[in-house]
Amino acid sequence: MNETQIARIVEQVVANLGGASPSRGPLIRTSPAPSSGGRGVHATVEQALDAAQAAFLQLRDCSLEERSRYIAALRETMIAELEVISQMAVEETGLGRYLDKLAKNRLVAEKTPGVESLTPRAETGDHGLTLTEWAPYGVIGSITPCTNPTETILNNGIGMLAAGNAVVFNTHPSAKRVSAYFIDRLNAAIERCGGPSNLFNCVADPTIASAETLMKHPSVRLLTVTGGGGVVKAAMQSGKRAIAAGPGNPPVVVDETADIPKAGRDIVFGASLDNNIICIVEKEVIAVGEIADALKREMCANHAVEVKGRDLKKLEELLITPDNHVNRKYIGKDAALILADAGIRVPDTTRLAFAEVPESHPFVQHEMLMPVIGFVRVRDVDEAIETAVRVEHGYGHTAVMHSTNINALGKMARACNTSIFVKNAPSAAGTGLGGEGFTSWTIASPTGEGMTYAPHFARARRCVLKDNFRIV
Ligand code: NAD
Repeated sequence: MNETQIARIVEQVVANLGGASPSRGPLIRTSPAPSSGGRGVHATVEQALDAAQAAFLQLRDCSLEERSRYIAALRETMIAELEVISQMAVEETGLGRYLDKLAKNRLVAEKTPGVESLTPRAETGDHGLTLTEWAPYGVIGSITPCTNPTETILNNGIGMLAAGNAVVFNTHPSAKRVSAYFIDRLNAAIERCGGPSNLFNCVADPTIASAETLMKHPSVRLLTVTGGGGVVKAAMQSGKRAIAAGPGNPPVVVDETADIPKAGRDIVFGASLDNNIICIVEKEVIAVGEIADALKREMCANHAVEVKGRDLKKLEELLITPDNHVNRKYIGKDAALILADAGIRVPDTTRLAFAEVPESHPFVQHEMLMPVIGFVRVRDVDEAIETAVRVEHGYGHTAVMHSTNINALGKMARACNTSIFVKNAPSAAGTGLGGEGFTSWTIASPTGEGMTYAPHFARARRCVLKDNFRIV
């Protein structure tokens, strides 16, 4: 895919998401979410694990072709349920934007790798043939966030099933209904293809205690956690093998060589996507002084507003608590609503608010998870890169740069040392939205897997045949 095609896709998505797009969806009659009793929805972790174990044993007898068919059915189910689950997620969690969730969920259905990504390896030589193939762990425990509830369930679910596993999800308590509903629909799709029941499981009422039970349970061979610092720490201390995907604070650097109109447009698109609750999206701008004012103008021309002076004071008081924490009430809310609550009148079409502040400001230092970001002005590109590295806090998650100077791009790529580095595009391109490559919604920086997919949920097994099966 070339630059023009990527630009066209991004433009199309921006147009679809449009400044004027409502954050709530149309009125759709959603089926009541199942409590325990839905397919794969259980009263206790133990029941969920027993069901998953039974499903895993049945899956072991299924062929790769059958696994592929189940995955195709899961993709179709996601597309068929897009409107319902996107609306349910916004309503239940109170986070994000309906149209943006449609785009995120569709991306997962279309660009999550399946069985084809598990490539066997063959090595031959004077001593014969050695084969490496990918085997399942068995039952995987997966802890999912409220910010991308259905995206994470299907993205992890496809990768884990492709590798031959069954899953028990501990879904986020504030996304439990949409998660249970979706898990029921996914299991129904597999059953319709003649596949095992209960490949995906959850508890109807997930809690931190149920997550802890899952993390410590002997039948769980592998843990995958997707969330903030607390759950990552808990997983690392569980004594189990864990794939841990934690928080980020992605900086976007813009230097004097960048295409400024494009940078302004891309930053507003990225930083406002699903009201900034996505871990990979731009969370602060670091702009070289020479282009800083022009960049602000471009951002404002694309449904962003600059907040300053007394208005900035009011916004700080609303969003940052006296003990310097983010006011969780405003996580994932629309920019226009947040600003209205701060007493600042802006058009309803506003997607993003930004404020020029020093590097030490909470809007820069905190992972705000809302469409309000800090804008830091620096002297030159070297200072910009150094600042970006500091404010990313060593999470090693995601960083973005707009520049046409390949030396500067190379310097930033090395310095930021992140799992994802996006050049000259919205950060969302890093997970395949308008960029090349597969999508992942579990980006494991603390444990080093980066963009997780099926091979990460599989065990490598080697088989050696001495002195035979070479064909030359
Ligand atoms: P969260 O940490 O509040 O919750 C995530 C999950 O972990 C939930 O299911 C929750 O119940 C569970 N949990 C939380 N603390 C726990 C503990 N101590 N023990 C056991 N379980 C615990 O996160 P959230 O608000 O749902 O999601 C937003 C956060 O997740 C942000 O920090 C974001 O950057 C991060 N995130 C990272 C990725 C990634 O791929 N790296 C993806 C999505 C979200």
